[in-house]
Amino acid sequence: MSERVIPLADHRYAAALPRVPAAAVPPTGLLGDRLGRPLRDLRISVTDRCNFRCSYCMPKEVFDKAYTFLPQSSLLSFEEITRTARLFVAHGVQKLRLTGGEPLLRKHLEVLIGMLSELRTPDGQPLDLTLTTNGSVLAKKAQALKDAGLQRVTVSLDALDDAIFRRMNDVDFPVAEVLEGIAEAQRVGLGPIKVNMVVKRGTNDDQIVAMARHFKGTPVVLRFIEYMDVGATNGWRMDEVLPSADVVARIHAQFPLEAIEANVTGETAERWRYRDGSGEIGVISSVTQAFCHDCNRARLSTEGKLFLCLFATNGHDLRALLRGGYTDEQIAGAIGLIWQGREDRYSELRGAAGAEVGLGDGQRRVEMHYIGG
Ligand code: SF4
Repeated sequence: MSERVIPLADHRYAAALPRVPAAAVPPTGLLGDRLGRPLRDLRISVTDRCNFRCSYCMPKEVFDKAYTFLPQSSLLSFEEITRTARLFVAHGVQKLRLTGGEPLLRKHLEVLIGMLSELRTPDGQPLDLTLTTNGSVLAKKAQALKDAGLQRVTVSLDALDDAIFRRMNDVDFPVAEVLEGIAEAQRVGLGPIKVNMVVKRGTNDDQIVAMARHFKGTPVVLRFIEYMDVGATNGWRMDEVLPSADVVARIHAQFPLEAIEANVTGETAERWRYRDGSGEIGVISSVTQAFCHDCNRARLSTEGKLFLCLFATNGHDLRALLRGGYTDEQIAGAIGLIWQGREDRYSELRGAAGAEVGLGDGQRRVEMHYIGG
């Protein structure tokens, strides 16, 4: 007996359900936003929880014991995430990055990775399936992630000095365990491994050369990220930003560097290699050298909201479509229309405004632990 389809107008969600306009944009793989940027990279936040309290992302005084995280029921299920990812791939996405909060805190994540690893681009190519982690449980999970189909990992590591690292994660977590996680990920073949260091002037900038020295001569690509005014809780100030130009200069003084081309269009990191051939580093300069002009990244929040920029204030509720009886065509059409209308370029505008405390438009920017980096 075939199921009776409930007409949308009669559905109890009817009032809340977004209307999928007739002019939806079906997937062609050639989708471009208002600035002509294609959709190539989808970042999927699988949890808003984290076991660290890094001050530039989840300051402890805000995300304290009383903070209410999202209930399990509001999180997208693995089936919903995979369905959504498949629709983005039809629109041209070639890279999926799992983020959080801390993605390895989501139970049975290997199952989701297995489901996503089966997706193929319209011309049958496997996707670039990667994950960003704070490395706290990586040593234990690396093999299972690899076996499930994960290709590579990016590990956040803000200092080598144990005391500075413990202060920055603000939960007294030892640096040695993260280094073990990186070594284990290397051993099981989750490479090329990238290590991301957020540089905050006066907090950990004295670790720059030590980090470079530690990873120089290894396959690990170390990237230095300028401290950003993400969200609305980290108290960002421009005078705590150390421009990437200074980072490069400090390393170059010890280990001569030369600039190299980007791997792909839309790559966030500017690449430098050691002149002696012993590896490369990258700098991600959202504050002093905005790269919005070829930003091809979309972000899916833990509860299924589509964000078009890391500094966005609002998202588009895809979960309501996923749970509202809409077809794949209708949801893909809505995604196409949303992207087509995109004109976000926050970092460029912040730069142009010479903002010292972020762009104060009175609107609350989305928190990074909710949509991932
Ligand atoms: S600020 Fe927004 S538009 Fe610019 S690069 Fe970052 S995510 Fe992309």
